[in-house]
Amino acid sequence: MLRAMADVSAAARMERLVAEIRDCQRCELWRTRTKSVPGDGPIDAEVLFIGEAPGVNEDQQGRPFVGAAGNFLSELLGAARLRREDVFICNVLKSRPPGNRDPLPDEIAACKPWLDEQIAIIQPLVIVTLGRFSMSRYFPRQSISRIHGHAERVGDRYVVPMYHPAAALHQQSLRETIMDDFRALPSLIARAREEQAARRQAELEAAAPDAPTPAAEQIRLFD
Ligand code: URA
Repeated sequence: MLRAMADVSAAARMERLVAEIRDCQRCELWRTRTKSVPGDGPIDAEVLFIGEAPGVNEDQQGRPFVGAAGNFLSELLGAARLRREDVFICNVLKSRPPGNRDPLPDEIAACKPWLDEQIAIIQPLVIVTLGRFSMSRYFPRQSISRIHGHAERVGDRYVVPMYHPAAALHQQSLRETIMDDFRALPSLIARAREEQAARRQAELEAAAPDAPTPAAEQIRLFD
């Protein structure tokens, strides 16, 4: 019941957020965009992917990663045994920088509250950053070539930086590297799930210290 109520309010929060992002004028990019691109996926996704910014196809369609980089991302998800419809995909910037130039620091700062709120709603177990701009959100001053594929605990979740699919698409050595990094995701996700289950069990026990644990209860049944 509580979970259902939480889901309803999360869905309402996300719906409001998407509407706000669609009308956003927090930086000058609204003047040149066709559509803003809030992001796509289930609001209770375990895995959240953060790219850089919409490109020309995304700007036209209002959806993330729908061009060549998007096709490659779908292939990478397959290597991680993930389905696109089960993960949430968004970007650091929600509007396209003209000519696909790099995001500017003031644009990243203006867009940050949207991404903060998305993460607060979704509460993913694992965040995968794609490229150096989303990596910098968690690991400023780091180099992607040094830390790609290395998961770090940030609070209750793991953050793992990866190369951007568009960068890896046309460069054979990076292509193999990013494939290998994606192939390592299932075991990270499994570890994150186990740790979350253990945290929840510990919270339950702390809330009701005298209640029998499921194992103790089973033993009692056989007395
Ligand atoms: N590159 C990105 O970073 N995001 C997209 O949505 C598309 C390409």
